[in-house]
Amino acid sequence: MITERDKVFLQMALEEAELALEENTYPVGAILVDDQFNVIAKGRNRVHPAQDTTAHAEIEAIRNAGEAIFDAKIHNKSFTLYSSLEPCPMCTGGILFAKIKRVVWLLNDDLGFGGFQKMKDAAIFEAKFNRIEMIAEPDEELRNRQLELMHQWENNANHVKNLRKAVSVGGDG
Ligand SMILES: [Zn+2]
Repeated sequence: MITERDKVFLQMALEEAELALEENTYPVGAILVDDQFNVIAKGRNRVHPAQDTTAHAEIEAIRNAGEAIFDAKIHNKSFTLYSSLEPCPMCTGGILFAKIKRVVWLLNDDLGFGGFQKMKDAAIFEAKFNRIEMIAEPDEELRNRQLELMHQWENNANHVKNLRKAVSVGGDG
């Protein structure tokens, strides 16, 4: 179940994803919110602008949260992370470390590096996953907008398939 408030934060995550695509990188955005509905931090994918394969939106949001993460861990606050795409295994690990209590994402990532659901299903770190409320694809309209961003990304020159193609074309010529 999500609320109208959740939807606002999911829209913000989607806006970050749109900005990322404008910056010619993976269209993924993330918003970290506390239990009083304050936005603690935002993040968007920076893999290509920063030339850093670990600069994922969720990790960026957690990094940008700075000391707020430690305050939340110490005082057992309930932070929610909203992402436009299912977190990958690395970001899922970051979420576990940050002791985020609730994770909501717009679009599953079964074909890509979506990892949260798989790791949860694998029953590893089970006690830690059991403390996290997981909400996948709660809003069809926003889900479809993220899906459209993913399709646009496939045509971007920085998409790895297109980068490889450019190399092989160059090699033939
Ligand atoms: Zn990730």
